[in-house]
Amino acid sequence: MRSVTHNYFGMLFHRTYFLQLLVVMLGLLLLRPLTPTQPVFATDLPPIPHVEYVLHVSVDGLTASLLQDKLAADTAGTYSAFQRLIDEGAYTFNARSDYDTTVTLPNHISMLTARPLWQPFGVSEMHHHGFPHNSLPYERATLHNSGNPSAGYIASVFDVVHDNGMSTALYASKDRFSVFDVSYNATNGRGDSTGPDNGRDKIDFYRNLHDGTSSRPLHDALLADLKQHHINYSFIHYADPDAVGHIHGFGSDEWFAAVADVNSYLLDLMTLIETDATFKNNTILIVTSDHGGTDFKGHGDASMAVNYTVPLFVWGKGVAQNTELYALNPSFRQDPGEGRPRFDTNVVQPIRNGETGTLALALLDLPIIPWSFMTSAINVAPFGAPADDTLLNLFLPLVRGN
Ligand SMILES: [Zn+2]
Ligand SMILES: [Zn+2]
Repeated sequence: MRSVTHNYFGMLFHRTYFLQLLVVMLGLLLLRPLTPTQPVFATDLPPIPHVEYVLHVSVDGLTASLLQDKLAADTAGTYSAFQRLIDEGAYTFNARSDYDTTVTLPNHISMLTARPLWQPFGVSEMHHHGFPHNSLPYERATLHNSGNPSAGYIASVFDVVHDNGMSTALYASKDRFSVFDVSYNATNGRGDSTGPDNGRDKIDFYRNLHDGTSSRPLHDALLADLKQHHINYSFIHYADPDAVGHIHGFGSDEWFAAVADVNSYLLDLMTLIETDATFKNNTILIVTSDHGGTDFKGHGDASMAVNYTVPLFVWGKGVAQNTELYALNPSFRQDPGEGRPRFDTNVVQPIRNGETGTLALALLDLPIIPWSFMTSAINVAPFGAPADDTLLNLFLPLVRGN
């Protein structure tokens, strides 16, 4: 076959040469080293553990570096529950809070809805929660009427668990958490179109209790309820370190005493999981925090590493043991060092506190939260194709067996 030669370009651009050049360029493109913005997806990952019970704990104001340093020197075993979470579970001291905020309520909304506060670059306006407030909301405020107006109903972990016929609970130790109870009550919760109708009230057990800076009354009520009702999904918020940190400073002796109190709560939960016939070998404990805090008694500056760096622990049936979470997810997560990665779709994501709700659902073998952002491609199917293909693969369930 005769090739066409264009005199203007000379022999180099003879069609044959051009095709060869194209092949070489494509080859170089495929062979070039993968940059951090191009995660590789392993195909031989161990399975995600599945259980019937998840305890999803947020320890308010648990500064990662303070806890990590303390544990390294804890010969007395004052923080033995946290040490067990490391030795017997999957963990990181370098998870991230929301990019834009390091205050309490917006980060807890992220944990429970898998949405960032604001709209990330490259993502439609449907996927952020848009609720920046951190004070006791007015009586009728809900996430739906006061959050992202483009989102309409902002579904939560409670919706998915409850609509699938399992029981749910919220145990909180700050008044402002009432916004969750109001958002998902019998009036404001969405009708259940999944299988049998389990009703609009998505939270079966709701308690909001504290005694000054202590969550002890809340914790005692929680233990009693868990023993009696064996709730499938419980979100538990212990405010102690934050409440004390605002008075005495994060990292003060008083702050560490509050962390030791939380340690005792966690030991109780671990003992319950190990001894209760129903929970035993069928429960996973997730522990994270909304933000850290500084020695000058605050945590409002979202650009400070001490505020946006939080720990994340996963412990229980089938979870990899004594394994750092970034080491467990080398191909699609990137340890951000001291950095503060955005949620943007062209950024390989760090491990986030806001994805723990999605993680809880994956462990319960349930679908993702509709329209959520911190989700995985694997679990998208039950709700059909997501609105944005760009969301796929940003987040994947991060805990697997050994
Ligand atoms: Zn907080
Ligand atoms: Zn605070």
